[in-house]
Amino acid sequence: MAEFDDILARAADGGRIEAEDALRLYTDAPFHALAEAANAARERVIGDDIVTYIIDRNINYTNVCTTACKFCAFYRAPKHDEGWTHDNAEVLRRCGEAVDLGATQVMLQGGHHPEFGVEYYEELFSAVKEQYPDLVIHSIGPSEIDHMSRVSGVEVDEAIKRIKAAGLDSIAGAGAEMLPERPRKAIAPLKEPGGRWLEIMEAAHVQGLESTATMMMGTGETNAERIEHLRMIRDVQDRTGGFRSFIPWTYQPENNHLKGRTQATALEYLRLLAVARLFFHNVTHLQSSWLTVGKAAGQLSMHLGVDDLGSIMLEENVISSAGARNQSKLGELIDLIRSGDRVPAQRNTVYERMSVHWTPEDDPSDDRVRSHFSTIVADLQQKA
Ligand code: SF4
Repeated sequence: MAEFDDILARAADGGRIEAEDALRLYTDAPFHALAEAANAARERVIGDDIVTYIIDRNINYTNVCTTACKFCAFYRAPKHDEGWTHDNAEVLRRCGEAVDLGATQVMLQGGHHPEFGVEYYEELFSAVKEQYPDLVIHSIGPSEIDHMSRVSGVEVDEAIKRIKAAGLDSIAGAGAEMLPERPRKAIAPLKEPGGRWLEIMEAAHVQGLESTATMMMGTGETNAERIEHLRMIRDVQDRTGGFRSFIPWTYQPENNHLKGRTQATALEYLRLLAVARLFFHNVTHLQSSWLTVGKAAGQLSMHLGVDDLGSIMLEENVISSAGARNQSKLGELIDLIRSGDRVPAQRNTVYERMSVHWTPEDDPSDDRVRSHFSTIVADLQQKA
C-alpha cells in the first residue's frame, strides 16, 4: 500500500503522473485507495458533489459502411439488402421529436457510406440548424471526417472548416475504440490508425471545434495498451485542451465477428475510470457508461472519479445492436444519482449546469423521457 501512497497523493492533488505509474495503479493498487484518490481528484476539479446528465438523441442516418469493424453489429456492407439510409426529412423529424422531449443535443452518427462526402454533411448539418437553431449538433468523429475528405478529395482541414461552417458545434469522440496500433488493427483493420484519429481531433481543436474522447475496452487489449490509449489522448490534450471529457465503455458481444470471446469485467472498468481521473490531470470531466456496464456499476462509478452519467439518450442503435439492453427513464437516472450520494443536475453539451435538482421536489418528471430506445432492436423484436 505504502508504495502507492506518493503516486496517489500526487495525482489526487492534480500532479502529473507517468504512464508507467498509471499502469501500476491500474494493475496493483488496492481498490479502496484507488477509489479514495480518484474521488478526491474529482472533488478538487469539480468542486462539489453534483453529477450531471444530458438529454439527447442519437440519430443514425445510414448503416451502410465500407469499414467492416469486427466488433460492430450495426453496419451493413454497401449493396447488402439490410442496408438503409434516412433522408434529411426523416432526420429532421427525429430531431423534432427530440426537441419536444427536451433534448438539447443530437448525435448524428452513421457508417462510412461510399458516396457521402463533405457535401452530404454540409447539407445535413445546415438543414438541422435551419430548422432547429438551438439544437446542438455534437456529432460524428475523426473517422467520418477522414472518410468524407477522401470521398470529396479535399484536405481534412478543409472538410473541418466546411462542416463547422454548416453547423457542426462539436465532435463526439466515437471511433477511438483502442488507439494503440496492435489492438486497433486486430478489431478494426480498415479504420484509420489511432495516430490519424488523434491528428484529426487536433486539427479540429485548432479550428475551435472541441470534442470528447472515448475508449472501448474489452476486445482483447492488454492492460498496458489500455493505459497507452490514455497516454495518447493526454499528449494531444497537453497541446490543445480541446477534449471536454473522457468516456470509456465496454465492448458488447452480440451479433459481431468478435463474438464476445473477450470482455472487460465491471471491476476492470471501475479501476480504469479511477485511473483515468488520476491520469487526466488536464481533462475536466469523466463520464461512465451505465448503458454498457449496468446501472449498479454506473452508480458505483460516481465514487471513482466520475462526475457525469452521460445521457438519457432518447434513441441509440449502435451499441444496442451489439447487445446492450440497459434502459432508464429520466426519474430513474435522477434517483440513481441521488441514492448514490450525489446531487443530480441536467447539463448542456459544454457541461454548463442547466438545472440542479437539490432536493427531490426539484426533480423534473416526464415519463416520456426514456433512454436508449433502439428502433432497430424494436423492429427485430417485432419480427421475432
Ligand atoms: S464501427 Fe463505424 S466505421 Fe466501424 S463498421 Fe461500424 S459503422 Fe462502420
